[in-house]
Amino acid sequence: MIYPSIPGGILTAEQLVRLGEIAGAGKGLAKISVGQMIGILTTPEKLDEALAALAEAGLAPAPLGTKVRTVRSCSGLLCPNAKQDSVEDAKRLNGLFSGRDVPRPFRMSVSACRNSCAESMLQDVGFIGTPDGYNVYIGGKAGGTPVIGELAAKGVSAAQMPGVVEAVLDVYQREAGAREQLYKVIARLGIDIFEKAINEVLNDNKNRENR
Ligand code: SF4
Repeated sequence: MIYPSIPGGILTAEQLVRLGEIAGAGKGLAKISVGQMIGILTTPEKLDEALAALAEAGLAPAPLGTKVRTVRSCSGLLCPNAKQDSVEDAKRLNGLFSGRDVPRPFRMSVSACRNSCAESMLQDVGFIGTPDGYNVYIGGKAGGTPVIGELAAKGVSAAQMPGVVEAVLDVYQREAGAREQLYKVIARLGIDIFEKAINEVLNDNKNRENR
């Protein structure tokens, strides 16, 4: 199974056709994962050919394992409820962070309104759009024992999102034990250390804008 990265969950018609051709040249099957990925079933003999065809279609393999994973998004401006452009914002975050090495798989998503269709409260970092920017939740996780992320910042602009993620990742990578997930670091150290790092970034941005 190979998983192309689909930032923001958006594919062009040409890419969709190409994925069909790659699946057809393999086992003739694809599986849409719960993580907004399309898994293409291929054979060991066809693997290199399939990866080359993906690259030609502008699709890289999705990062798996202990990496920052492909950033998920809800339908964004394709949905009448959207308060923010979650698809473009997820794509930008994906370009900046996906594939980075981290102690455990690190998941992020961007939802464009409070309905949170991208399950943003169940991510390591989740953004939920409001008319005034994004609310940021950190330390959530799905799975057998789900954890709801904690609200760490409000009214974050699209331009501030990368700085917020960088701040969370910095503290996480500095403080996490071997293979420790973000929610466990927050349970052990408290959320204040993360909030402080996020607020420093946001205040720094504000000061720069006011100069
Ligand atoms: S989170 Fe809101 S904007 Fe996004 S798909 Fe769901 S209802 Fe629509």
